[in-house]
Amino acid sequence: MKIIINDLSMVYPNQNRALDCVSFEISEGLFGLLGPNGAGKSTLMRILVTLMKPTSGAVQIDGFDLQKNRKEIRAMLGYLPQDFSTFPKIKTWEFLDYSARLAGISNKKERIKRIDELLERVGLFDSREKLANKLSGGMKRRVGIAQALISDPKILIVDEPTTGLDPEERIRFRNLLTDMSKGERIIILSTHIVGDISSTCQDMALLNKGKLAFNGAPKELIEMAKEYTFQLEVDDNALQKIKQEYIVISTVPIASGWQVDIVAKKVMGFKAKQIEPNLEHAYVCFMELLN
Ligand code: ADP
Repeated sequence: MKIIINDLSMVYPNQNRALDCVSFEISEGLFGLLGPNGAGKSTLMRILVTLMKPTSGAVQIDGFDLQKNRKEIRAMLGYLPQDFSTFPKIKTWEFLDYSARLAGISNKKERIKRIDELLERVGLFDSREKLANKLSGGMKRRVGIAQALISDPKILIVDEPTTGLDPEERIRFRNLLTDMSKGERIIILSTHIVGDISSTCQDMALLNKGKLAFNGAPKELIEMAKEYTFQLEVDDNALQKIKQEYIVISTVPIASGWQVDIVAKKVMGFKAKQIEPNLEHAYVCFMELLN
């Protein structure tokens, strides 16, 4: 199964160009869509889940055309929107039962089996009697994943799912997505958090101001940053100069002053060693130095 995005553009009525001739393909597994706020990620997600029509261009999903075969495509999709919420005064299992009815699972036995299975998979079985809107942020998001998976969709789209989660829940949520992507499913993870992508996705696209800036494996992006990533050890005075002259990724206090990671085309006037970049170095390098 494949999603083929071809020359997709979206211009809002106020003339905001949110997507500008974007083309790439998405295969089975966990796919990361990365970009800063305003890059066009949500617009692309909304188009893919058929909530919005693009101004021009085409999308094919598993051989179906997004414009012509909306019904077939909707049947393949599960969606966890950025602003997902449950209702007040409804228990976790009741919310999922409601979602299952909406998804057309009319047989009660089948519904209960499916809900129990999903509660188990997202680690919420013991919380099934709790009020859904009283759960923690991370648990609510896991309810969101369970409802998005209720009809066992071939494609799962999640929009900024780790925003606002504490580090432990964030890691748990990423692991859950990796687990869910096994088999023949496509999961698209849209995020502005580099760490969400580095630890999970085999393939990614980078959007910037509505344009496709990069498409490939995270390690290819890292490869491109190799010659531009440096580390220096400096005192307070030098640190101020470096901050003015270079793009600083991190500063860590050490006995002699500061250990500073920067991305730069060339370092002059300071002793710097080249270091192995990580995806965060590569992302900043690509967005701020090479673009
Ligand atoms: P992201 O999800 O990457 O933050 P969005 O798709 O939300 O990006 O936004 C892309 C661009 O489109 C931004 O410049 C944003 O202001 C604009 N935009 C988003 N939604 C609308 C809308 N409904 N009307 C006009 N402009 C919009």
